[in-house]
Amino acid sequence: MLEHIDVFVLDLDGTIYLGDTLIDGAGAFLDAIRAAGKRYVFFTNNSSRSPHYCIEKLNRFGIATTRDEFMTSVDVTIDCLKKERPGQRFYLLGTPDLEEAFLQNGLTITNRTTHDYDYAYGLTACAEVREGELPDAVVAGFDKTLNYEKLERACAYIQKGAAFLAIHPDITCPMEHGAIPDCGAICAAITASTGMAPHYYGKPSVETVAYIMRHFDIAPERIAFVGDRLYTDIQAGVANGSKGILVLTGETGEAEIAAASVRPDAVFASVKEIAEALSDY
Ligand SMILES: [Mg+2]
Repeated sequence: MLEHIDVFVLDLDGTIYLGDTLIDGAGAFLDAIRAAGKRYVFFTNNSSRSPHYCIEKLNRFGIATTRDEFMTSVDVTIDCLKKERPGQRFYLLGTPDLEEAFLQNGLTITNRTTHDYDYAYGLTACAEVREGELPDAVVAGFDKTLNYEKLERACAYIQKGAAFLAIHPDITCPMEHGAIPDCGAICAAITASTGMAPHYYGKPSVETVAYIMRHFDIAPERIAFVGDRLYTDIQAGVANGSKGILVLTGETGEAEIAAASVRPDAVFASVKEIAEALSDY
């Protein structure tokens, strides 16, 4: 299968590094891809940090990379919003980094995160939506600045007819001392309150695969997603005509593979073993 792949789409956390530790063999894996005459791009679903943060981290690990070798769920979302919803107004559940990305790309957001949250707000919160206030869509990201006011406004807007969009479905984000709630968990709260489910853009969406196909001018079957998460990394490949290669250095173990409905095309202990398999070509 590896022989027929031209572009490897590489997840970061749990695949290339784990927190502040580089996965053994990650550098050799990137060398092996290049030596086999193939290409790679890093792709993270994480929407809380700017790409600059992850690129610096890779560079600190001795992996020289630039913005053109790096894609995120935010890139895909912004690309789709610009094409599908030109001129629309968005209520954004996101960090200041995410707000910056939207603004730099000319998108209109109706709110800015402030750190002087008024706790009295909780006492007066109501679902009233004033004339002219309703945005075209609520866009949820991995919002580490989420508070009750944002949650309440998002639910009120969706109930009044705003579209419900989300940047990626990850339910948790792996951290050094355990997992923390991610974009999918925030969306689950909104869904529980409104009965509405979001449209997701990052991995495993068809939009993500289309974005990568356009970037590399390549057919889907020549693309392999390499990652540690079944419902994002692997699903992106297997649900869209590409390939999904699971590594066991992150959140998925043998027991989860057996229990899951998503079937990876291949399973490797780590990227080090993929490098060894690639050296046969
Ligand atoms: Mg991962």
